[in-house]
Amino acid sequence: HVSTKPPPEPSPLRKAKFFQANMRILVTGGAGFIGSHLVDKLMENEKNEVVVVDNYFTGSKDNLKQWIGHPRFELIRHDVTEPLLIEVDRIYHLACPASPIFYKYNPVKTIKTNVLGTMNMLGLAKRTGARILLTSTSEVYGDPLVHPQDESYWGNVNPIGVRSCYDEGKRVAETLMFDYHRQHGIEIRIARIFNTYGPRMNIDDGRVVSNFIAQAIRDEALTVQLPGTQTRSFCYVSDMVDGLIRLMEGDNTGPINIGNPGEFTMIELAENVKELINPEVKIITVENTPDDPRQRKPDITKAKELLGWEPKIKLRDGIPLMEEDFRGRLGISRKK
Ligand code: NAD
Ligand code: UDP
Ligand code: UDP
Repeated sequence: HVSTKPPPEPSPLRKAKFFQANMRILVTGGAGFIGSHLVDKLMENEKNEVVVVDNYFTGSKDNLKQWIGHPRFELIRHDVTEPLLIEVDRIYHLACPASPIFYKYNPVKTIKTNVLGTMNMLGLAKRTGARILLTSTSEVYGDPLVHPQDESYWGNVNPIGVRSCYDEGKRVAETLMFDYHRQHGIEIRIARIFNTYGPRMNIDDGRVVSNFIAQAIRDEALTVQLPGTQTRSFCYVSDMVDGLIRLMEGDNTGPINIGNPGEFTMIELAENVKELINPEVKIITVENTPDDPRQRKPDITKAKELLGWEPKIKLRDGIPLMEEDFRGRLGISRKK
């Protein structure tokens, strides 16, 4: 005997329960560079519902255009320095300008974003029971006296310099995370992100990879800031996003360094960009800004051991991927 009756509609309660089985994930700063790539990855999982909160200071709706109108996606214009009342299970707290020219543009706002913004997101985590991940930075190590930097290093940071709104801001944000964890039992995760690059970076954000790639495409000289022997270690954005999700879903609070240990001087970076994008372009040296860290390279032993994570994309493979995106946005195709 085969029934022709349709199955009964689930009761409102069952529907509600089914809905709760899915994960509702808040991404603050989700309209930005790393945030929008994180959203792309989270949206691949059909069990996830993603809510982005952003004030569009350095981010853009354009980075999320493929998701606008999607039933599992929501975009809210909101400033994290103001309280936020929503119901979520996970909070990826990225909101904060990351590029020196943007965070120095309004330093008071930057420190408010780091301190009040993080406190509000922790208050939200406390009320909802959500797990919260903070994207801290290698800048908490300041101009490091230990090389490479592991997580036990306390850093060498100028508390009153022009970078302090950002690096001291992130240090306070880390303190808040641990105090809420110890005092209120909030589930926390802290990632210390090292320099990250890839498609959707702001073309004119003044960061070294975006500057060099845009300059090479526009036939302008690559501006190496003096002395040029300072080093950075660059992580491709898809590797970064993979590390952040592993940290969030793993068992360790961190802080854990997420970055690519491949270390380059700024002169070497310029030479790589020249060779890969425009062999004709000139490389010149220009003045630097104060408090520029001389060297930076993550020790990723913890990420490897605790998260089973390590970066896959080498700088020389990532630069062409970013070049393609920048050429599209600048409307300049490759010379034949
Ligand atoms: P981004 O500037 O592209 O993204 C930051 C986003 O936060 C933007 O969309 C911006 O509009 C938003 N935002 C800023 N202030 C806000 C506020 N008060 N309220 C709501 N939204 C606000 O930067 P990114 O490179 O994607 O960086 C994301 C996070 O990763 C930041 O927390 C940054 O400190 C951290 N980080 C990035 C790097 C890197 O190399 N890109 C390195 C270390 C740490
Ligand atoms: N907060 C928020 N959303 C919430 C809960 C709290 O934005 O869902 C804010 C709240 O306005 C406060 C901050 O988070 O400024 C810290 O919250 P907490 O509960 O720790 O502090 P209290 O409200 O007790 O001062
Ligand atoms: N830099 C450079 N040329 C540029 C922009 C930056 O040589 O056009 C150098 C800068 O002096 C610093 C490094 O690149 O030593 C990284 O700078 P960025 O602003 O990208 O990141 P951060 O200082 O935050 O690591």
